[in-house]
Amino acid sequence: MLKIENLHARVEGKDILKGLSLDIGAGEVHAIMGPNGAGKSTLGNVLSGRDGYEVTEGSVTFMGQDLLALEPEERAAAGVFLAFQYPVEIPGVNNTYFLRAAYNAQRKARGEAELDSMEFLKIVREKLKIMKLSPDLLNRAVNEGFSGGEKKRNEIFQMALLEPKLAILDETDSGLDIDALKQVAEGVNAQRDPQRSFLLITHYQRLLDYIEPDYVHVLADGRIVESGDKELAKKLEAHGYAWVADHGEPAG
Ligand code: ADP
Ligand code: MG
Ligand code: MG
Repeated sequence: MLKIENLHARVEGKDILKGLSLDIGAGEVHAIMGPNGAGKSTLGNVLSGRDGYEVTEGSVTFMGQDLLALEPEERAAAGVFLAFQYPVEIPGVNNTYFLRAAYNAQRKARGEAELDSMEFLKIVREKLKIMKLSPDLLNRAVNEGFSGGEKKRNEIFQMALLEPKLAILDETDSGLDIDALKQVAEGVNAQRDPQRSFLLITHYQRLLDYIEPDYVHVLADGRIVESGDKELAKKLEAHGYAWVADHGEPAG
């Protein structure tokens, strides 16, 4: 599904990713953990094609395509979705309108007919049940005045609508209380599918109590320095990230 080889990336003239390699198979859930500033968000931003992130070396193949050659909209249309660490507020733009625009942009890029507001509403109602998102959030401006938990659930709701092949969730757990965390995890678990892969970026092990990953990787200083199963996340929780630096063998 996704193959990242020796990826080097630079932000504002600074090298952040320094030879990151990672393989994600269809239907797999991979967690990337790591200390603050390790480059976790940079990885998500590079994969989604965000402006300002310059790839200097390496390759990313997504479902047989050179992902890095695609524009951000083309990546979205191909099925790559990124839920932001800090979801943006868009004052004055109705959330349902925004979601439909994103939904239709993806359909258009795939050569499919766009949906009118009635057709779209039908799909929204179905997905609302899965996400337990309050319908009144749809009628407000995008994320404006949303609580931290509501913003994160809104991101997961957007993901449910777009039905990506690869979903990258950047610290979707941060700042959530336990109930909001469980709701977000339920939303993600409901979308687990043999054809859909997840890259969960997280600083804490807690999220992984609710979304069970197939693999856990540690990102430090721009590379994957250790990989394992969910037990690795527990070790990190117990020993801290310094333990990896002392104990882990850099993996390339
Ligand atoms: P993480 O998500 O693991 O905490 P980031 O990928 O956000 O780490 O950041 C890695 C490094 O890149 C940090 O030193 C951060 O300051 C820098 N960085 C990331 N994005 C930008 C940006 N847009 N402008 C300047 N520096 C950035
Ligand atoms: Mg950070
Ligand atoms: Mg980050």
